[in-house]
Amino acid sequence: MLRKALLAALIPLSAAAAELPIFDAHLHYSHDTWETVPPKEAIAVLRKAGVKRALVSSSGDEGQQRLAAEAPDLIILELRPYRSRVDARTWFRDDTIIPYLEQRLKQFSYAGIGEFHLYGADAELLVPRRVVQLAKHYGLLMHAHSDAEAVERLFVQWPQARILWAHAGFERPDRVREMLRKHPSLWCDLAFRPDPAQGGKVDPEWRKAFLEFPDRFVLGTDTYTPERWHYIPEHAAWARAWLADLPPEIAERIAWRNGEALVAPKK
Ligand SMILES: [Zn+2]
Repeated sequence: MLRKALLAALIPLSAAAAELPIFDAHLHYSHDTWETVPPKEAIAVLRKAGVKRALVSSSGDEGQQRLAAEAPDLIILELRPYRSRVDARTWFRDDTIIPYLEQRLKQFSYAGIGEFHLYGADAELLVPRRVVQLAKHYGLLMHAHSDAEAVERLFVQWPQARILWAHAGFERPDRVREMLRKHPSLWCDLAFRPDPAQGGKVDPEWRKAFLEFPDRFVLGTDTYTPERWHYIPEHAAWARAWLADLPPEIAERIAWRNGEALVAPKK
């Protein structure tokens, strides 16, 4: 409760900033979540938070399908190469992942493939290579929880790839800027990063990144555990508070316009 009161005190926002719609580009909704936060409740949480659109993936793929059935206007599907949580540690060496992905891709329409965990030279293994080919074939965004090295290796395999770099690789803003300069089709989600702002003030190093690349950042809550679904409204409020410290046009882009551009059908 104290945390809530504190948060309210930190958000003396203008009406415009308070109403800023949010595109949440990093949500998961796996089987252990729909048991504790059923689809109707999950959608209500998103609406309460002012999340207008959300890029959602889930291990097993079923959770997000349930959400999409509940709110097709809100949920954008992303296909994760995990049938269950344990696949996160082994998928890149497991060739049974490929027929699973192929079957899902035939059945449903996705905006992206991911979020997947992939580091360093593992990006050269046969399964990730095949995933890149599938992304290319279906024109999908790749959502990579990766170090810079794996991102580089993915771009070598497919120079025109569109990669959403989860958590901005947990890299420092100057390194993030280097990567964005080098790769014009790289975007960063800011999920699970407290460092872009403190007390509603944008960190000076991050400000430089946002001003240099206003089109390349998106927000994300990262609901990797069921409890984090209840954190979505608080996260949205926190994001609106620090976005209000940026020029309004840039705030709008990071809040939702960039996310929309990222998933817009290619012409
Ligand atoms: Zn995640």
